[in-house]
Amino acid sequence: GLRVANEVKGVEKVIINDVNADALEIASESAKINNLENFEISEDETCRFLSSHSRKNSRASIVDIDPFGSPSRYIDCAIRATMHGGMLALTATDLQVLHGLFNKAAKRRYYGTPIKTEFSNEIAIRLIIGCVSFVAGRLDISFQPLFVDHDMHYYRTYLKILNTPDQEENIGYIIFCRNCKDRYSHTSRLTKCRKCNHETEIAGPLWIGKLFEKEFVSQMKNIRKELTVHKRCERILDRSEEEADMPATYYTLDEIASKMNSAPLKLSDAISKITSSGFKASTTSLNPSGFRTDCEIDEIIKIFSAK
Ligand SMILES: [Zn+2]
Repeated sequence: GLRVANEVKGVEKVIINDVNADALEIASESAKINNLENFEISEDETCRFLSSHSRKNSRASIVDIDPFGSPSRYIDCAIRATMHGGMLALTATDLQVLHGLFNKAAKRRYYGTPIKTEFSNEIAIRLIIGCVSFVAGRLDISFQPLFVDHDMHYYRTYLKILNTPDQEENIGYIIFCRNCKDRYSHTSRLTKCRKCNHETEIAGPLWIGKLFEKEFVSQMKNIRKELTVHKRCERILDRSEEEADMPATYYTLDEIASKMNSAPLKLSDAISKITSSGFKASTTSLNPSGFRTDCEIDEIIKIFSAK
């Protein structure tokens, strides 16, 4: 919050709210040292704070929810406090729940359940956005994911909020076959594998729409020249832009190699093999050895096995 007030040009006002008085005291001191006049602090229960900013002319252009654990209990009031066209950012740190260790808790918090896979981080992000979609639908609000981000300890989603009901159906399931490794998103719970007829594992209901808006990511890439950006962040932006229009779910080189009983390919080789066979393929910001493609598992194995 302090850095936004201090470093982002044209920010009218930043208000940070916390129930921890000590944290606020420190923030307040730093604001004084930096002579920030556009910075306020508030010590209130989160939803009461957000509700006090939910009337039409008092909504924020950016609302950032960064709680301990799950953001799900704040989604209603956070949406109401975000202006039309504004951005809602949500952080989740309840990774055990989002990764399938406690499915009852996942259903309670996010309305859907995860499954344990190599691409669990994508399922976690889709559960969080799915939960926003259920709440937003009730409020006649729609949204568009702009960007998602993760590391070892958190997931973060950035959504553009629109005061219009959603026309598109973006809620569905991730269908996964542990036997043949087939995976895809679908609006129905398909319990039999389309490739090998094995029982499938199903995650959801969750968000099956896009996770990135390409234009938004391109704009972030354009301004990075003016900033000092860590190499890792540059790579995340490049990969996010590449994968923005690709299908849901990704594969990892390791799981395909173990399925084929061979050494994993290099990521760039894997992608060029797939694209030169006429399919789409890209890297993904969610996994350094992951790739997205519209090519299905049996075809991928055929392409990778070809000499
Ligand atoms: Zn299968």
